[in-house]
Amino acid sequence: MSDKMNLTRAQFDEVMVPNYAPAAIIPVRGEGSRVWDQQGNEYIDFAGGIAVNCLGHCHPALVEALKTQGEKLWHLSNVMTNEPALELATRLVNATFAERVYFANSGAEANEAALKLARRYALDNYGEDKTEIIAFDKAFHGRTFFTVSVGGQAAYSDGFGPKPQAITHLPYNDVAALEAAVSDKTCAIMLEPLQGEGGIINATPEFLKAVRALADKHNALVIFDEVQTGVGRTGELYAYMGTDVVPDILTTAKALGGGFPIAAMLTTAKIAAHLKVGTHGSTYGGNPLACAIGNAVMKVVNTPEVLDGVKRREQLLRDGLNRINDKYHVFSEIRGAGLLLGAVLNEKYQGRSRDFLNASVAEGLLSLMAGANVVRFAPSLVIPEADIAEGLERFERAVAKVAAA
Ligand SMILES: *Cc1c(COP(=O)(O)O)cnc(C)c1O
Repeated sequence: MSDKMNLTRAQFDEVMVPNYAPAAIIPVRGEGSRVWDQQGNEYIDFAGGIAVNCLGHCHPALVEALKTQGEKLWHLSNVMTNEPALELATRLVNATFAERVYFANSGAEANEAALKLARRYALDNYGEDKTEIIAFDKAFHGRTFFTVSVGGQAAYSDGFGPKPQAITHLPYNDVAALEAAVSDKTCAIMLEPLQGEGGIINATPEFLKAVRALADKHNALVIFDEVQTGVGRTGELYAYMGTDVVPDILTTAKALGGGFPIAAMLTTAKIAAHLKVGTHGSTYGGNPLACAIGNAVMKVVNTPEVLDGVKRREQLLRDGLNRINDKYHVFSEIRGAGLLLGAVLNEKYQGRSRDFLNASVAEGLLSLMAGANVVRFAPSLVIPEADIAEGLERFERAVAKVAAA
């Protein structure tokens, strides 16, 4: 029946809850870093489904994993364990600081688990006064009520009634503010090692070191939200690996499934011990189908070829954006790391990232915003270099149009 339906963008407004405002086009097929819409128009993908499609669209290794596991076993629930989950947990433990893994289905759920674990750990070890979560302005941690309250954008968390308590927000990268705020009541400091949705804001090394040192001094846990930066995005398997700091809890989602929903919370054995049987859970978390795809992603991404390739591609993309800027003078800065880059609009173009996004779509390029003043790029980690070059040509045409308007 659905084959015969004439499905259009206009129907979105008739059948969907209006919390999204999707683009005018409806993509129907993707291959590598190219996508085609209903009319057969082709686009180069510098958006990667918001840093999710780390191996582009329909990567053969992921399609193979989906088909193979899809004919074997989809779901059991956590009443039983399963081989793909055990394999993926082992891969994550072997590749990181972590000794224990909890699987979830989305970034918000992994963060929810991290926050609940931190609170329980503090309660068990230090009593009921140690509940304060320190988080940062502009942070994004997901849309459940706890995670959105820890996130640093009031526009996302206000208007839903009483919020979870004992959450303090500080300016990001402000060591003095952090020193003044952390106390023995602090249970955890939660941050993205590079803020994504908030505008592609790099953490300074001094700030990350201060987070670790102050947390240690006050027996607080450090939670790194690597939902966007994880799984090769910055050219390291996890962004913390490119810093001097190791977190106590790390969350990963987005790219972990390359487009299939899966997330994980990683931690040490000592901390994990506080999520005892029955304290937390998820029906789908760690399901065999999702984990089989996660294993396929990890096998491809956690290799020197792919990770070194991210740094090479970053340079191509940065050089191209700088060349465009030399000509059109629209950006004040290109920031970020690896293939998570933000072109920051200068004074003259404040508030207009959506105009650049729309102009790009018209030229056959998918990109992202990170707030009203930053154009964000998060292409596939294995995007062909020719697609980077052609995508930059299309972006230049889009920039020329916005600049001329
Ligand atoms: C996307 C994102 C989340 C939320 O992930 P969902 O899968 O949408 O729940 C959390 N934290 C960061 C840093 C993100 O980029």
